[in-house]
Amino acid sequence: MADPHGFQKYPRTELPHRPVPLRLMDWQEVTELGDVTQQAARCMDCGVPFCHSGCPLGNIIPEWNDLVRQGRWREAWDRLHATNNFPEFTGRVCPAPCEGACVLAINDDAVAIKDVEVAIAEHGFAAGWAEPVVPSLRTGMRVAVVGSGPAGLAAAQQLTRAGHDVVVFERDDAPGGLMRYGVPEYKLEDRFLDRRLEQMRAEGTRFECGVSPSAADLALFDATVLATGTPIARELPVPGRELSGIHQAMEYLHGAESASRAIDARGKNVVIIGGGDTGTDCFGTAMRQGAASVTQFDIRPRAPKTRAASTPWPMYPLVWRLATAHEEGEYVETSERRFSVNTVSFSGVDGAVSTIHGNEVSVVEGRRVPQRGTDFEIDADLVLIALGFSGAEQGGLHAELGVEFDDRGRIVRDSQYRSTVPGVYVTGDNGRGQSLIVWAIAEGRAAAAAVDADLMGETALPVAVAPGDAPMGV
Ligand SMILES: Cc1cc2nc3c(=O)[nH]c(=O)nc-3n(C[C@H](O)[C@H](O)[C@H](O)COP(=O)(O)OP(=O)(O)OC[C@H]3O[C@@H](n4cnc5c(N)ncnc54)[C@H](O)[C@@H]3O)c2cc1C
Ligand code: SF4
Repeated sequence: MADPHGFQKYPRTELPHRPVPLRLMDWQEVTELGDVTQQAARCMDCGVPFCHSGCPLGNIIPEWNDLVRQGRWREAWDRLHATNNFPEFTGRVCPAPCEGACVLAINDDAVAIKDVEVAIAEHGFAAGWAEPVVPSLRTGMRVAVVGSGPAGLAAAQQLTRAGHDVVVFERDDAPGGLMRYGVPEYKLEDRFLDRRLEQMRAEGTRFECGVSPSAADLALFDATVLATGTPIARELPVPGRELSGIHQAMEYLHGAESASRAIDARGKNVVIIGGGDTGTDCFGTAMRQGAASVTQFDIRPRAPKTRAASTPWPMYPLVWRLATAHEEGEYVETSERRFSVNTVSFSGVDGAVSTIHGNEVSVVEGRRVPQRGTDFEIDADLVLIALGFSGAEQGGLHAELGVEFDDRGRIVRDSQYRSTVPGVYVTGDNGRGQSLIVWAIAEGRAAAAAVDADLMGETALPVAVAPGDAPMGV
């Protein structure tokens, strides 16, 4: 039973952020931990807890809120792990659709659910509760997982715990997928990934990094789970795209924190084309690298201050959000966000980009139309294209295996995550399309249950989502 007056006694508060001048000097996590007990006490333990349906994992939020309120951290840790393998990741970087769906959000501020989640996770790691969960029975079945992003890791952990012999193949030099090589350190430090990998290795999951297996390699396994993501970036086919100094966001973000990074923003006028999360990650990264100026273009208009009528509760709200990178941008005079702008072309000097030519657009009958007299030019010697991803890779291993694709570039799978190739399962962004870490974990868990059921005739692994589920608009 929750505190019936908690939401009346306490306002919503969020975990503090380190001071901007300090955090711009390093890559460490921006958010600091703090006391979340009052926040947990705001939870009303609703008869119909809409937060559940907002969460792709089906996290049992009111239960762990109440356990935290009472200081019963170990039980909260167990409750959280019943539905989520990696709350330390989602507690940090999930956009928290649960909060958009929280009943309090109808006429008040939602419970800061994500902060409670990360607090439970950190409490548990500090207390040494992330012990290996070693299966008591071995099935003798061998499962290959290709790709070690959140979908592959969740599938591998569940299958290992079900007693299968699991090998994760990762073509990068370390596991983690976009959590390691996309999401910047200041949002999710690699050390949080590494300590979870340590638990997985101790449970028996094996990792083969720097390896892209062939179809023949995979034929040695009883089942294969493809968790290969959507690495194909959308292009911006405008005149001048061939100039040097124009890169895809992922070329820039991969290894951006390292001193030997391939692309450096130091001293440059950086323009990021794309107003989404990937563009915002480029924004925070370029400021930390010491760019002379950073400008982010968004073709969409500025979002409204309060939830847009097009996304009523309990849907994931379209609303003005200030990412930590944008907080930093407000502090740095030479950074700017521009809305309703379109990139028309690039021009340059000696083959290198120097100027972006654009105009402003407005939406007329659902179409974006350039506005007369709004043409502009802006200096740019590093341009980052962050327009999202168009689908899974169609060549390489996928072609060798012969999996099929739909017209959106996703690998075709059925309700049990089976591809059209027997014994080959598909989970995460490669089947769902570009999405979120929370969805990848949910799909990884569900695909593991489907594999286990097919191999063993039955499964005790839990399933929260079916392919194609999208509650509350996320
Ligand atoms: C810059 C950026 C920032 C993001 N920030 C957030 C955020 O803050 N919050 C959020 O929820 N989501 C965020 N996302 C989205 C999120 O990272 C993805 O939705 C999620 O990682 C998808 O997980 P996945 O396991 O399906 O694929 P991925 O994480 O893409 O992992 C796929 C893995 O498969 C490997 N692989 C592919 N092919 C092969 C092969 N043939 N052999 C071996 N290995 C292979 C790849 O190397 C990769 O490691 C972000 C995405 C980007 C690009
Ligand atoms: S909807 Fe909000 S208030 Fe209700 S149970 Fe969930 S977190 Fe608590």
